[in-house]
Amino acid sequence: MAIHTYHDDAHPPPERRKTVLFCPECGHESPITGDWNTDVSGDERVLVCTACGSVVDRRSRRRTDVVEAT
Ligand SMILES: [Zn+2]
Repeated sequence: MAIHTYHDDAHPPPERRKTVLFCPECGHESPITGDWNTDVSGDERVLVCTACGSVVDRRSRRRTDVVEAT
């Protein structure tokens, strides 16, 4: 059995796959790069629904654990 340790980069990166987000409040849907309002505060980036103003996605811009600081 051959174990492949050499990574072949022939395949395109998975970024081509669009991530669609859904608003839990009004059901509005758009790709993550779509028409959401992006609000950056500190190390957090928040995506806000343009239809109803609800926070759809909240993520830390750092890769460390998210600290709830509200
Ligand atoms: Zn909404």
